[in-house]
Amino acid sequence: ESLINRIAAGEIIHRPASALKELLENALDAGATSIKITVKDGGLKLLQIQDNGSGIRKADLPILCERFTTSKLTSFQDLSALTTYGFRGEALASISHVAHLSVVTKTKADSCAWRACYSDGVLAPPKPGLSVDPKPCAGNDGTLLTVEDLFYNTPTRLAALRSGADEYKRILDVVTNYAVHNPSIAFQCKKASCSLAGQAQTDVSTPGSATVLQAIALLYGASLSKELVHVKLDDQKAIDKDSSIWSAEAFASNPNHQSKRFTFLLFINHRLVDSSRIKRAMEAVYNGILPKGSAPFVYLSLLLDPKDVDANVHPTKREVHFLHEEAITEIIADQVQLAVTKQGT
Ligand code: ADP
Ligand code: MG
Repeated sequence: ESLINRIAAGEIIHRPASALKELLENALDAGATSIKITVKDGGLKLLQIQDNGSGIRKADLPILCERFTTSKLTSFQDLSALTTYGFRGEALASISHVAHLSVVTKTKADSCAWRACYSDGVLAPPKPGLSVDPKPCAGNDGTLLTVEDLFYNTPTRLAALRSGADEYKRILDVVTNYAVHNPSIAFQCKKASCSLAGQAQTDVSTPGSATVLQAIALLYGASLSKELVHVKLDDQKAIDKDSSIWSAEAFASNPNHQSKRFTFLLFINHRLVDSSRIKRAMEAVYNGILPKGSAPFVYLSLLLDPKDVDANVHPTKREVHFLHEEAITEIIADQVQLAVTKQGT
């Protein structure tokens, strides 16, 4: 049975960056305004995330890593009006099957923090012979989650991954994307320092209380942030007066921008997702506008009626589909193209 659980977990947690995405989304769901990430060996040795969100009640700790434990979905109906990232209760369960997971957490109502360790979906002793019961300890309001030795029990999965450096890049990518989209939240991501003297350099750092454009300037460079057009579409209708309202906001390269790589950040209802249709449409906007060998930067945030979005796709699939996808994509692409060509003249 534990082998089946491990395989199932691998379907959700592919690599350190996918574990981190789940942990980040949990911190955001918990209302955190500060999220600090520490990484060792690309997240394979250590992946630690400290948030200042709601914390987890002590009574909920024993079942925290049980499958389908979620505090976010109370009825089937909720699925069509999801406002949280999580709702399946599978992430922590999955991680506990393929890594050593521990949590230190404190709610505002608690007078101290509680520490618990997990293995294969259930509480585990911190050391052989010790009790599995959560223990009181010092800690700030919020949650500190520590994932160690990811994939220690799935050697094939481990072997399929590339270097720690490559995994770290993917982690930085996820953090950067969320930091741009959540400029009012302070993000920090760094490698764990190896020696006491060694000051680890912080690779992502945002102050919170900034705008999306300021976060882009911080994370992608001030020069890029001056080469972007801003497109804002409020209260749109895709087809007719009966279709639901949607909005979009984009920051997209103007024709002065020079970059070799297409950088595309897409958020739909605040989720970091992929849409090959929208991606292709954005690339097409720049055909004949940017010189050959040059690629744009596009940040696009799309707010759709949750009932129009297919949220219940397989958890590993970031590709999202929604109602009136073609029409909405066309409207956005047209508006971006208009703004970009205006800038060029
Ligand atoms: P989901 O996010 O789908 O509910 P997870 O397995 O990611 O499932 O998390 C299980 C539950 O653990 C969440 O519903 C939430 O109640 C709690 N939880 C996880 N991470 C945090 C956190 N950082 N702060 C507060 N609660 C958390
Ligand atoms: Mg979650």
